[in-house]
Amino acid sequence: MVQQRQNNAHVVVLPYPAQGHINPLVQFAKRLASKGVKATVATTHYTAASIAAPGITVEPISDGFDEGGFAQTNNNVQLFLTSFKTNGSRTLSHLVQKHRQSATPVTCIVYDSFFPWALDVAKHHGVYGAAFFTNSAAVCNIFCRIHHGFIRVPVNKEDLPLSVPGLPPLDHRALPSFVRFPQSYPAYMAMKLSQFPNLKEADWMFVNTFEELEGEVMTGLTELFPAKMIGPMVPSGYLDGRIKGDKGYGASLWKPLNEECSNWLEAKEPQSVVYISFGSMVSLTSEQMEEVAWGLKESGVSFLWVLRESEHGKLPSGYRDLVKDKGLIVTWCNQLELLAHQATGCFVTHCGWNSTLESLSLGVPVVCLPQWADQLPDAKFMEDVWEVGVWPKEDEKGVVRKQEFVKSLKDVMEGERSQEIRKNANKWKKLAREAVGEGGSSDMHINQFVSHLMNADKNRSLNVF
Ligand code: UDP
Repeated sequence: MVQQRQNNAHVVVLPYPAQGHINPLVQFAKRLASKGVKATVATTHYTAASIAAPGITVEPISDGFDEGGFAQTNNNVQLFLTSFKTNGSRTLSHLVQKHRQSATPVTCIVYDSFFPWALDVAKHHGVYGAAFFTNSAAVCNIFCRIHHGFIRVPVNKEDLPLSVPGLPPLDHRALPSFVRFPQSYPAYMAMKLSQFPNLKEADWMFVNTFEELEGEVMTGLTELFPAKMIGPMVPSGYLDGRIKGDKGYGASLWKPLNEECSNWLEAKEPQSVVYISFGSMVSLTSEQMEEVAWGLKESGVSFLWVLRESEHGKLPSGYRDLVKDKGLIVTWCNQLELLAHQATGCFVTHCGWNSTLESLSLGVPVVCLPQWADQLPDAKFMEDVWEVGVWPKEDEKGVVRKQEFVKSLKDVMEGERSQEIRKNANKWKKLAREAVGEGGSSDMHINQFVSHLMNADKNRSLNVF
Protein backbone atom coordinates (compact mmCIF):
# COMPACT_ATOMS: atom_id res chain seq x y z
CA MET A 1 0.00 0.00 0.00
CA VAL A 2 1.45 3.40 -0.95
CA GLN A 3 1.73 5.35 2.24
CA GLN A 4 1.25 9.02 2.88
CA ARG A 5 4.59 10.80 2.73
CA GLN A 6 5.70 11.75 6.23
CA ASN A 7 8.97 13.46 5.49
CA ASN A 8 10.96 15.33 2.92
CA ALA A 9 13.16 12.51 1.67
CA HIS A 10 13.30 12.74 -2.11
CA VAL A 11 15.21 10.18 -4.15
CA VAL A 12 16.00 10.63 -7.82
CA VAL A 13 16.47 7.26 -9.50
CA LEU A 14 18.55 7.16 -12.69
CA PRO A 15 18.35 3.98 -14.80
CA TYR A 16 20.43 3.10 -17.86
CA PRO A 17 17.81 3.45 -20.62
CA ALA A 18 17.36 -0.22 -21.51
CA GLN A 19 14.46 -2.45 -20.48
CA GLY A 20 16.59 -4.67 -18.25
CA HIS A 21 17.82 -1.65 -16.28
CA ILE A 22 14.66 0.48 -16.24
CA ASN A 23 12.58 -2.36 -14.75
CA PRO A 24 14.54 -2.94 -11.52
CA LEU A 25 15.24 0.75 -10.92
CA VAL A 26 11.62 1.79 -11.45
CA GLN A 27 10.64 -1.04 -9.14
CA PHE A 28 13.07 0.26 -6.54
CA ALA A 29 11.53 3.74 -6.91
CA LYS A 30 8.08 2.22 -6.30
CA ARG A 31 9.35 0.33 -3.27
CA LEU A 32 10.79 3.54 -1.82
CA ALA A 33 7.55 5.42 -2.55
CA SER A 34 5.61 2.70 -0.73
CA LYS A 35 7.74 3.46 2.32
CA GLY A 36 6.95 7.15 2.29
CA VAL A 37 9.83 8.52 0.19
CA LYS A 38 9.18 10.85 -2.74
CA ALA A 39 10.63 9.09 -5.78
CA THR A 40 11.42 10.63 -9.15
CA VAL A 41 12.70 8.58 -12.07
CA ALA A 42 15.08 10.63 -14.24
CA THR A 43 15.31 9.07 -17.67
CA THR A 44 16.05 10.01 -21.26
CA HIS A 45 13.53 11.92 -23.39
CA TYR A 46 13.33 8.86 -25.56
CA THR A 47 12.22 6.51 -22.78
CA ALA A 48 10.30 8.88 -20.47
CA ALA A 49 6.92 8.28 -22.15
CA SER A 50 7.26 4.51 -21.66
CA ILE A 51 7.37 4.77 -17.88
CA ALA A 52 4.26 5.32 -15.79
CA ALA A 53 3.80 3.89 -12.34
CA PRO A 54 1.60 4.94 -9.44
CA GLY A 55 3.38 6.84 -6.71
CA ILE A 56 6.38 7.94 -8.76
CA THR A 57 7.15 10.95 -10.95
CA VAL A 58 9.08 10.70 -14.22
CA GLU A 59 11.27 13.58 -15.38
CA PRO A 60 13.31 13.67 -18.60
CA ILE A 61 17.04 14.27 -18.86
CA SER A 62 19.15 14.20 -22.01
CA ASP A 63 21.60 11.62 -23.34
CA GLY A 64 22.27 13.88 -26.32
CA PHE A 65 20.15 11.64 -28.59
CA ASP A 66 16.68 12.81 -27.68
CA GLU A 67 14.93 11.43 -30.76
CA GLY A 68 16.07 7.82 -30.81
CA GLY A 69 18.47 7.14 -27.93
CA PHE A 70 21.13 4.47 -28.45
CA ALA A 71 19.73 3.47 -31.88
CA GLN A 72 20.53 6.99 -33.10
CA THR A 73 24.25 6.30 -32.56
CA ASN A 74 24.33 3.35 -34.98
CA ASN A 75 25.08 1.14 -31.98
CA ASN A 76 28.22 3.03 -31.04
CA VAL A 77 28.50 2.23 -27.32
CA GLN A 78 31.44 4.55 -26.70
CA LEU A 79 29.76 7.51 -28.40
CA PHE A 80 26.54 6.88 -26.49
CA LEU A 81 28.24 6.66 -23.10
CA THR A 82 30.38 9.74 -23.66
CA SER A 83 27.41 11.77 -24.83
CA PHE A 84 25.30 10.51 -21.92
CA LYS A 85 27.98 11.54 -19.46
CA THR A 86 28.22 15.09 -20.83
CA ASN A 87 24.53 15.74 -21.42
CA GLY A 88 23.29 13.57 -18.57
CA SER A 89 25.49 15.30 -15.97
CA ARG A 90 24.29 18.71 -17.10
CA THR A 91 20.58 17.90 -17.27
CA LEU A 92 20.56 15.79 -14.10
CA SER A 93 22.21 18.70 -12.36
CA HIS A 94 19.45 21.05 -13.63
CA LEU A 95 16.86 18.66 -12.30
CA VAL A 96 18.38 18.64 -8.82
CA GLN A 97 18.75 22.43 -8.96
CA LYS A 98 15.11 22.88 -10.02
CA HIS A 99 13.91 21.03 -6.93
CA ARG A 100 16.20 22.96 -4.61
CA GLN A 101 13.65 25.64 -3.77
CA SER A 102 10.68 23.25 -3.70
CA ALA A 103 9.08 21.64 -0.66
CA THR A 104 10.93 18.43 -1.54
CA PRO A 105 14.55 19.14 -2.49
CA VAL A 106 16.44 16.10 -3.71
CA THR A 107 18.15 14.23 -0.86
CA CYS A 108 19.71 11.32 -2.74
CA ILE A 109 20.51 10.16 -6.29
CA VAL A 110 20.25 6.39 -6.78
CA TYR A 111 22.14 5.87 -10.02
CA ASP A 112 22.61 2.89 -12.28
CA SER A 113 26.16 1.71 -11.68
CA PHE A 114 26.80 2.11 -15.43
CA PHE A 115 26.72 5.89 -14.75
CA PRO A 116 29.44 6.50 -12.15
CA TRP A 117 29.49 10.21 -13.14
CA ALA A 118 26.09 10.61 -11.45
CA LEU A 119 27.91 10.39 -8.12
CA ASP A 120 29.83 13.57 -9.04
CA VAL A 121 26.50 15.31 -9.68
CA ALA A 122 25.25 14.17 -6.27
CA LYS A 123 28.44 15.35 -4.52
CA HIS A 124 28.39 18.65 -6.39
CA HIS A 125 24.93 19.36 -5.00
CA GLY A 126 25.69 18.03 -1.54
CA VAL A 127 23.15 15.20 -1.73
CA TYR A 128 23.72 11.50 -1.08
CA GLY A 129 24.72 9.18 -3.90
CA ALA A 130 23.89 5.46 -4.10
CA ALA A 131 25.04 3.07 -6.82
CA PHE A 132 22.55 0.44 -7.99
CA PHE A 133 23.90 -2.72 -9.65
CA THR A 134 21.40 -4.43 -11.92
CA ASN A 135 23.33 -7.68 -12.30
CA SER A 136 24.03 -10.57 -9.95
CA ALA A 137 26.34 -10.33 -6.94
CA ALA A 138 28.46 -13.02 -8.60
CA VAL A 139 29.04 -10.79 -11.61
CA CYS A 140 29.79 -7.78 -9.35
CA ASN A 141 32.27 -9.99 -7.54
CA ILE A 142 34.10 -10.94 -10.76
CA PHE A 143 34.42 -7.42 -12.18
CA CYS A 144 35.17 -5.84 -8.80
CA ARG A 145 38.10 -8.21 -8.24
CA ILE A 146 39.38 -7.69 -11.77
CA HIS A 147 39.25 -3.91 -11.22
CA HIS A 148 41.23 -4.22 -7.98
CA GLY A 149 43.74 -6.60 -9.57
CA PHE A 150 42.87 -9.54 -7.30
CA ILE A 151 42.03 -11.78 -10.23
CA ARG A 152 43.35 -11.71 -13.77
CA VAL A 153 41.43 -12.00 -17.00
CA PRO A 154 42.37 -15.53 -18.13
CA VAL A 155 44.65 -15.48 -21.16
CA ASN A 156 45.31 -19.16 -21.72
CA LYS A 157 44.10 -22.63 -20.76
CA GLU A 158 46.29 -22.78 -17.63
CA ASP A 159 44.33 -19.85 -16.16
CA LEU A 160 41.14 -21.91 -16.25
CA PRO A 161 38.90 -22.59 -14.51
CA LEU A 162 38.83 -19.07 -13.12
CA SER A 163 38.82 -19.18 -9.38
CA VAL A 164 36.85 -16.37 -7.71
CA PRO A 165 36.28 -16.45 -3.93
CA GLY A 166 32.66 -17.24 -3.16
CA LEU A 167 31.94 -18.64 -6.63
CA PRO A 168 32.17 -22.15 -8.05
CA PRO A 169 35.15 -22.58 -10.43
CA LEU A 170 34.26 -20.92 -13.73
CA ASP A 171 35.27 -22.73 -16.87
CA HIS A 172 35.57 -20.96 -20.21
CA ARG A 173 31.92 -21.52 -20.99
CA ALA A 174 30.66 -19.83 -17.81
CA LEU A 175 32.75 -16.66 -18.02
CA PRO A 176 31.04 -13.37 -18.84
CA SER A 177 31.86 -12.75 -22.51
CA PHE A 178 33.64 -9.47 -21.71
CA VAL A 179 36.06 -11.52 -19.57
CA ARG A 180 36.22 -14.42 -21.98
CA PHE A 181 36.95 -12.22 -25.02
CA PRO A 182 37.95 -8.80 -23.61
CA GLN A 183 39.46 -7.70 -26.92
CA SER A 184 36.11 -8.23 -28.67
CA TYR A 185 34.19 -5.89 -26.37
CA PRO A 186 36.57 -3.10 -25.29
CA ALA A 187 33.82 -0.51 -24.69
CA TYR A 188 31.66 -2.89 -22.64
CA MET A 189 34.65 -4.17 -20.65
CA ALA A 190 35.64 -0.55 -19.92
CA MET A 191 32.09 0.23 -18.83
CA LYS A 192 31.93 -2.78 -16.51
CA LEU A 193 35.21 -1.77 -14.87
CA SER A 194 34.23 1.91 -14.70
CA GLN A 195 31.61 1.03 -12.09
CA PHE A 196 34.22 0.62 -9.36
CA PRO A 197 36.88 3.37 -9.17
CA ASN A 198 34.77 6.01 -7.38
CA LEU A 199 32.54 3.57 -5.48
CA LYS A 200 34.24 4.26 -2.16
CA GLU A 201 32.83 7.80 -2.38
CA ALA A 202 29.27 6.46 -2.67
CA ASP A 203 27.10 6.65 0.42
CA TRP A 204 25.32 3.42 -0.44
CA MET A 205 25.53 0.63 -2.95
CA PHE A 206 22.77 -1.79 -3.78
CA VAL A 207 22.63 -5.07 -5.70
CA ASN A 208 19.44 -6.51 -7.12
CA THR A 209 19.73 -9.87 -5.42
CA PHE A 210 19.00 -11.32 -1.99
CA GLU A 211 20.99 -12.71 0.86
CA GLU A 212 19.58 -16.23 0.77
CA LEU A 213 20.39 -16.48 -2.95
CA GLU A 214 23.84 -14.92 -3.10
CA GLY A 215 24.96 -14.27 0.47
CA GLU A 216 27.85 -16.67 0.03
CA VAL A 217 29.04 -14.87 -3.06
CA MET A 218 29.28 -11.65 -1.05
CA THR A 219 31.26 -13.02 1.88
CA GLY A 220 34.81 -11.83 1.56
CA LEU A 221 33.71 -8.82 -0.45
CA THR A 222 32.68 -6.63 2.49
CA GLU A 223 35.81 -4.49 2.27
CA LEU A 224 35.88 -4.04 -1.50
CA PHE A 225 32.18 -3.97 -2.13
CA PRO A 226 30.02 -3.36 0.94
CA ALA A 227 26.77 -3.51 -1.01
CA LYS A 228 23.31 -4.12 0.38
CA MET A 229 21.21 -6.81 -1.24
CA ILE A 230 17.74 -5.37 -1.81
CA GLY A 231 16.17 -7.67 -4.41
CA PRO A 232 14.52 -9.22 -6.13
CA MET A 233 13.15 -6.04 -7.66
CA VAL A 234 10.09 -7.75 -9.07
CA PRO A 235 6.64 -6.12 -8.76
CA SER A 236 5.22 -6.64 -5.31
CA GLY A 237 2.04 -8.29 -6.63
CA TYR A 238 4.14 -11.36 -7.49
CA LEU A 239 5.96 -11.43 -4.17
CA ASP A 240 4.88 -9.89 -0.87
CA GLY A 241 1.78 -8.11 -2.19
CA ARG A 242 2.35 -5.11 0.09
CA ILE A 243 2.25 -2.53 -2.73
CA LYS A 244 -1.39 -2.56 -3.70
CA GLY A 245 -2.11 -3.27 -7.38
CA ASP A 246 1.60 -3.61 -8.23
CA LYS A 247 1.32 -6.23 -10.97
CA GLY A 248 3.75 -4.81 -13.53
CA TYR A 249 6.97 -2.81 -13.67
CA GLY A 250 5.19 0.21 -15.13
CA ALA A 251 7.74 0.50 -17.91
CA SER A 252 7.58 -1.02 -21.36
CA LEU A 253 9.56 0.06 -24.39
CA TRP A 254 7.35 -2.16 -26.61
CA LYS A 255 3.62 -2.77 -26.65
CA PRO A 256 2.75 -6.00 -24.83
CA LEU A 257 0.17 -8.26 -26.50
CA ASN A 258 -1.39 -9.25 -23.20
CA GLU A 259 -4.86 -10.24 -24.28
CA GLU A 260 -3.69 -12.39 -27.15
CA CYS A 261 -1.32 -14.25 -24.82
CA SER A 262 -3.72 -14.79 -21.95
CA ASN A 263 -6.54 -15.94 -24.26
CA TRP A 264 -4.21 -18.45 -25.82
CA LEU A 265 -2.96 -19.70 -22.45
CA GLU A 266 -6.42 -19.99 -20.97
CA ALA A 267 -7.25 -23.30 -22.63
CA LYS A 268 -3.95 -24.97 -21.74
CA GLU A 269 -3.37 -27.60 -19.07
CA PRO A 270 -1.43 -26.60 -15.92
CA GLN A 271 2.35 -26.58 -16.42
CA SER A 272 2.06 -27.76 -20.00
CA VAL A 273 3.40 -24.72 -21.88
CA VAL A 274 6.96 -23.66 -22.62
CA TYR A 275 7.42 -19.89 -22.52
CA ILE A 276 10.42 -18.75 -24.53
CA SER A 277 12.05 -15.32 -24.67
CA PHE A 278 15.51 -13.87 -25.26
CA GLY A 279 14.80 -10.53 -23.63
CA SER A 280 15.07 -7.08 -25.09
CA MET A 281 18.52 -7.14 -26.71
CA VAL A 282 19.77 -10.57 -27.69
CA SER A 283 19.73 -11.46 -31.36
CA LEU A 284 20.22 -15.14 -32.23
CA THR A 285 22.21 -16.25 -35.26
CA SER A 286 19.98 -17.66 -38.00
CA GLU A 287 21.56 -21.06 -37.39
CA GLN A 288 20.71 -21.02 -33.67
CA MET A 289 17.23 -19.72 -34.42
CA GLU A 290 16.54 -22.68 -36.73
CA GLU A 291 17.73 -25.20 -34.16
CA VAL A 292 15.43 -23.68 -31.54
CA ALA A 293 12.50 -23.44 -33.93
CA TRP A 294 12.77 -27.06 -35.12
CA GLY A 295 13.47 -28.24 -31.58
CA LEU A 296 10.25 -26.70 -30.32
CA LYS A 297 8.33 -28.33 -33.15
CA GLU A 298 9.94 -31.72 -32.68
CA SER A 299 9.42 -31.77 -28.91
CA GLY A 300 5.66 -31.57 -29.48
CA VAL A 301 5.17 -29.12 -26.58
CA SER A 302 2.84 -26.13 -26.66
CA PHE A 303 4.90 -22.98 -26.68
CA LEU A 304 4.52 -19.23 -26.48
CA TRP A 305 7.51 -17.51 -28.03
CA VAL A 306 8.35 -13.82 -27.68
CA LEU A 307 10.34 -12.86 -30.72
CA ARG A 308 11.03 -9.22 -31.39
CA GLU A 309 9.93 -7.96 -34.80
CA SER A 310 13.55 -7.63 -35.96
CA GLU A 311 14.12 -11.39 -35.43
CA HIS A 312 11.16 -12.74 -37.38
CA GLY A 313 13.04 -12.91 -40.68
CA LYS A 314 15.29 -15.62 -39.19
CA LEU A 315 12.46 -18.13 -38.68
CA PRO A 316 12.42 -21.01 -41.17
CA SER A 317 10.08 -20.16 -44.01
CA GLY A 318 6.47 -21.17 -43.42
CA TYR A 319 7.26 -21.93 -39.76
CA ARG A 320 4.37 -20.04 -38.22
CA ASP A 321 1.87 -22.02 -40.28
CA LEU A 322 3.57 -25.30 -39.56
CA VAL A 323 3.34 -24.83 -35.80
CA LYS A 324 0.09 -22.92 -35.54
CA ASP A 325 -1.67 -25.70 -33.58
CA LYS A 326 1.03 -25.79 -30.94
CA GLY A 327 2.73 -22.43 -30.85
CA LEU A 328 1.96 -18.74 -30.52
CA ILE A 329 4.65 -16.26 -31.59
CA VAL A 330 4.27 -12.66 -30.37
CA THR A 331 6.54 -9.62 -30.51
CA TRP A 332 6.32 -8.65 -26.81
CA CYS A 333 4.31 -9.61 -23.75
CA ASN A 334 4.04 -8.96 -20.06
CA GLN A 335 6.59 -11.60 -19.11
CA LEU A 336 5.63 -11.70 -15.45
CA GLU A 337 2.01 -12.46 -16.26
CA LEU A 338 3.09 -15.36 -18.43
CA LEU A 339 5.53 -16.74 -15.91
CA ALA A 340 2.89 -16.52 -13.20
CA HIS A 341 0.29 -18.29 -15.32
CA GLN A 342 -0.55 -21.79 -14.13
CA ALA A 343 -0.25 -23.15 -17.68
CA THR A 344 3.45 -22.23 -17.86
CA GLY A 345 5.67 -25.19 -17.02
CA CYS A 346 9.07 -24.09 -18.27
CA PHE A 347 10.89 -20.91 -19.26
CA VAL A 348 13.43 -21.10 -22.09
CA THR A 349 15.50 -18.04 -21.26
CA HIS A 350 18.59 -16.14 -22.35
CA CYS A 351 19.33 -15.71 -18.61
CA GLY A 352 19.30 -11.92 -18.48
CA TRP A 353 19.48 -11.09 -14.78
CA ASN A 354 15.88 -9.84 -14.57
CA SER A 355 14.54 -12.90 -16.33
CA THR A 356 16.64 -15.01 -13.98
CA LEU A 357 15.23 -13.30 -10.90
CA GLU A 358 11.71 -13.48 -12.32
CA SER A 359 11.93 -17.22 -12.94
CA LEU A 360 13.26 -17.76 -9.40
CA SER A 361 10.65 -15.45 -7.85
CA LEU A 362 7.81 -17.20 -9.65
CA GLY A 363 9.19 -20.70 -9.23
CA VAL A 364 9.39 -21.54 -12.93
CA PRO A 365 12.01 -24.14 -14.02
CA VAL A 366 14.29 -23.10 -16.87
CA VAL A 367 16.15 -24.22 -19.94
CA CYS A 368 19.09 -21.84 -20.27
CA LEU A 369 20.15 -20.54 -23.67
CA PRO A 370 22.54 -17.72 -22.68
CA GLN A 371 24.11 -15.82 -25.57
CA TRP A 372 26.64 -13.36 -24.17
CA ALA A 373 27.70 -11.04 -21.36
CA ASP A 374 26.56 -11.91 -17.83
CA GLN A 375 24.02 -14.40 -19.14
CA LEU A 376 26.73 -17.09 -19.14
CA PRO A 377 27.51 -17.05 -15.40
CA ASP A 378 23.79 -16.61 -14.69
CA ALA A 379 23.15 -19.88 -16.56
CA LYS A 380 25.91 -21.60 -14.61
CA PHE A 381 24.29 -20.61 -11.31
CA MET A 382 20.82 -21.66 -12.46
CA GLU A 383 22.01 -25.11 -13.44
CA ASP A 384 24.72 -25.87 -10.88
CA VAL A 385 24.13 -23.72 -7.81
CA TRP A 386 20.40 -23.10 -7.54
CA GLU A 387 19.57 -26.23 -9.55
CA VAL A 388 16.46 -24.85 -11.16
CA GLY A 389 17.07 -26.00 -14.71
CA VAL A 390 19.28 -27.29 -17.46
CA TRP A 391 21.88 -25.58 -19.65
CA PRO A 392 22.18 -27.61 -22.88
CA LYS A 393 25.70 -27.96 -24.30
CA GLU A 394 26.72 -26.12 -27.45
CA ASP A 395 28.69 -27.79 -30.23
CA GLU A 396 32.15 -26.62 -31.32
CA LYS A 397 30.53 -23.79 -33.31
CA GLY A 398 28.83 -22.51 -30.18
CA VAL A 399 25.38 -23.61 -31.37
CA VAL A 400 22.95 -25.61 -29.22
CA ARG A 401 21.68 -28.24 -31.62
CA LYS A 402 18.07 -29.32 -31.88
CA GLN A 403 18.55 -32.76 -30.26
CA GLU A 404 20.33 -31.30 -27.25
CA PHE A 405 17.65 -28.63 -26.85
CA VAL A 406 14.79 -31.14 -27.11
CA LYS A 407 16.48 -33.33 -24.51
CA SER A 408 16.76 -30.38 -22.10
CA LEU A 409 13.11 -29.49 -22.60
CA LYS A 410 12.15 -33.07 -21.77
CA ASP A 411 14.44 -33.15 -18.71
CA VAL A 412 12.77 -30.08 -17.30
CA MET A 413 9.17 -30.81 -18.29
CA GLU A 414 8.88 -34.53 -17.60
CA GLY A 415 12.22 -36.26 -17.03
CA GLU A 416 13.55 -37.92 -13.92
CA ARG A 417 15.10 -34.69 -12.71
CA SER A 418 12.02 -32.56 -13.31
CA GLN A 419 10.51 -33.20 -9.86
CA GLU A 420 13.72 -32.15 -8.14
CA ILE A 421 14.08 -29.09 -10.34
CA ARG A 422 10.50 -28.04 -9.65
CA LYS A 423 11.01 -28.51 -5.94
CA ASN A 424 14.09 -26.29 -6.02
CA ALA A 425 12.28 -23.66 -8.07
CA ASN A 426 9.54 -23.56 -5.44
CA LYS A 427 12.09 -23.23 -2.68
CA TRP A 428 13.58 -20.10 -4.30
CA LYS A 429 10.13 -18.69 -4.89
CA LYS A 430 9.40 -18.94 -1.18
CA LEU A 431 12.78 -17.46 -0.20
CA ALA A 432 12.39 -14.56 -2.66
CA ARG A 433 9.02 -13.70 -1.13
CA GLU A 434 10.42 -13.83 2.35
CA ALA A 435 13.38 -11.60 1.44
CA VAL A 436 11.20 -8.71 0.28
CA GLY A 437 8.37 -9.38 2.72
CA GLU A 438 8.04 -7.58 6.05
CA GLY A 439 11.19 -8.16 8.11
CA GLY A 440 12.92 -10.07 5.29
CA SER A 441 16.61 -9.52 4.55
CA SER A 442 16.07 -7.20 1.56
CA ASP A 443 13.22 -5.38 3.27
CA MET A 444 15.45 -4.64 6.23
CA HIS A 445 18.17 -3.23 4.01
CA ILE A 446 15.69 -0.97 2.25
CA ASN A 447 14.25 0.13 5.59
CA GLN A 448 17.71 1.07 6.86
CA PHE A 449 18.26 3.21 3.77
CA VAL A 450 14.87 4.88 4.07
CA SER A 451 15.32 5.53 7.74
CA HIS A 452 18.70 7.20 7.12
CA LEU A 453 17.16 9.40 4.46
CA MET A 454 14.26 10.32 6.69
CA ASN A 455 16.68 11.40 9.37
CA ALA A 456 19.02 12.89 6.80
CA ASP A 457 19.65 16.19 8.55
CA LYS A 458 20.45 14.48 11.82
CA ASN A 459 22.65 11.89 10.10
CA ARG A 460 24.53 14.58 8.19
CA SER A 461 25.59 16.35 11.37
CA LEU A 462 26.56 13.00 12.94
CA ASN A 463 28.34 11.98 9.75
CA VAL A 464 26.62 8.60 9.83
CA PHE A 465 27.14 7.72 6.16
N1 UDP B 1 10.25 -8.62 -20.78
C1 UDP B 1 8.93 -8.33 -20.95
N2 UDP B 1 8.29 -8.84 -22.04
C2 UDP B 1 8.88 -9.64 -22.93
C3 UDP B 1 10.24 -9.96 -22.74
C4 UDP B 1 10.90 -9.44 -21.65
O1 UDP B 1 8.31 -7.62 -20.16
O2 UDP B 1 8.23 -10.05 -23.89
C5 UDP B 1 10.95 -8.05 -19.61
C6 UDP B 1 11.35 -9.10 -18.61
O3 UDP B 1 10.28 -9.33 -17.71
C7 UDP B 1 12.58 -8.49 -17.96
C8 UDP B 1 13.16 -7.56 -19.03
O4 UDP B 1 12.15 -7.43 -20.03
O5 UDP B 1 12.22 -7.75 -16.81
C9 UDP B 1 14.40 -8.10 -19.69
O6 UDP B 1 15.47 -8.02 -18.81
P1 UDP B 1 16.59 -9.13 -18.75
O7 UDP B 1 17.59 -8.68 -17.74
O8 UDP B 1 15.99 -10.46 -18.53
O9 UDP B 1 17.21 -9.17 -20.19
P2 UDP B 1 17.78 -8.04 -21.20
O10 UDP B 1 16.61 -7.58 -22.00
O11 UDP B 1 18.38 -6.95 -20.37
O12 UDP B 1 18.76 -8.79 -22.02
